[in-house]
Amino acid sequence: MGLTIALNRGRILSEVLPMMQQAGIEPSEDPESSRKLIFESRTGGHRLVVMRGSDVPTYVEYGAADVGVTGKDTIMEYGGGAHFYEQLDLGIGRCRLMTAAPADSALAQGRDVRGPLRVATKFVNVARRYFEAEGRQVTLIPLSGAMEIAPLMNLADCIVDIVDTGNTLKANGLVALETIADISSRVIVNRASMRTRFGEVQSLLSVLRDAAGNDEGGWRG
Ligand code: AMP
Repeated sequence: MGLTIALNRGRILSEVLPMMQQAGIEPSEDPESSRKLIFESRTGGHRLVVMRGSDVPTYVEYGAADVGVTGKDTIMEYGGGAHFYEQLDLGIGRCRLMTAAPADSALAQGRDVRGPLRVATKFVNVARRYFEAEGRQVTLIPLSGAMEIAPLMNLADCIVDIVDTGNTLKANGLVALETIADISSRVIVNRASMRTRFGEVQSLLSVLRDAAGNDEGGWRG
């Protein structure tokens, strides 16, 4: 059997699939149009499993997948690299994890906000660590999407969210304030697979590294 590879469905899939193809891993059907979730590769006995990005680290940590591709934001929220090896930056899906607030708010205008800052986000772990490190008292308000609405409805003073062009913020009257992290898609590897399937994993990583056009990411045990 080849490798089982968990892929983030959504916007980066169209960029990741050609990279997989360069590694000789071509799904028997097009994952972008099929409703199937598990795809056998035409050769090599590999499997591509398409799922929510936030589930990729779980599949890789527990070894249900040998390798996974998902955003750095998701990996940070999951708790970072203790659970698997983060091996490669694919350089795609670039964006930033930022704080943002309404343009006319005290926070955006540099005035003091009294009491703990109310922060709405789906990245509660990342936000907690960030504000702790800054020594700022916050009340975290977990949301699962459309964070931009929260400050407009006075549910929060600010949000922590992904910003690419900034159009979503702008359309909702928010401005980006602080950058928490630069984000891009990363390749993660199950700890046991790194030992037991070393050859297969390394040859996949080496093709992906070339496809991504970077030299970093050798094995870091
Ligand atoms: P934008 O309006 O271009 O700043 O995009 C912002 C929204 O698009 C965010 O709320 C995200 O949900 C989503 N988004 C943009 N880029 C990415 C990315 N690389 N990965 C995941 N989500 C993204």
